[in-house]
Amino acid sequence: TPKNRIMDADGIRRAISRISHEILEKNQGTKDLVLIGIRTRGVPLAERIKERIAEFEGVSIPLGLLDITLYRDDLSTIDIQPVLHETKVPFSLDGKIVILVDDVLFTGRTVRAALDALLDLGRPSKIQLAVLVDRGHRELPIRADYVGKNVPTSSREIVSVCLEETDGSEEVFLQEK
Ligand code: 5GP
Ligand code: MG
Repeated sequence: TPKNRIMDADGIRRAISRISHEILEKNQGTKDLVLIGIRTRGVPLAERIKERIAEFEGVSIPLGLLDITLYRDDLSTIDIQPVLHETKVPFSLDGKIVILVDDVLFTGRTVRAALDALLDLGRPSKIQLAVLVDRGHRELPIRADYVGKNVPTSSREIVSVCLEETDGSEEVFLQEK
């Protein structure tokens, strides 16, 4: 099947720059900001936002990560269990504005599990969500505060996100399952 490209390297770079500016604008600067990337591809995206903010403001934002995997029961589509594998948050979240970063927002179940994990770790003052792609199909009342691109998808499509750090190339494309 031919590649249905949604974003190229420039598009990804511009989206990350815009999201970084929006984070600074919404929160009136860098005070109390921390970044948490969701593995796998949320982590390099969070690192890029950290780099942009360092360039724009000369401030280094603390960066942590969560590793959450969704396990879907083979026999039903209802029983989807998010499993928290690893937490690397070597700083306090108390009173912080947490920017959670992931590559694709779909049902919202991963973000829900991430919110549980973050609230177990401390008492952030706010949690906001940044994603490169929102592909729709939410099953929970969760939305992103910062979106690189809204990509309406059918249930037969998935979004391929390729980043240099994890995939050796920079592009986003739609793919048939
Ligand atoms: P959700 O929990 O919202 O159903 O799914 C979001 C999580 O699954 C994210 O961590 C994301 O990486 C992954 N995911 C869901 N759908 C897609 C997709 O179409 N493409 C990619 N690359 N990841 C997806
Ligand atoms: Mg993921």
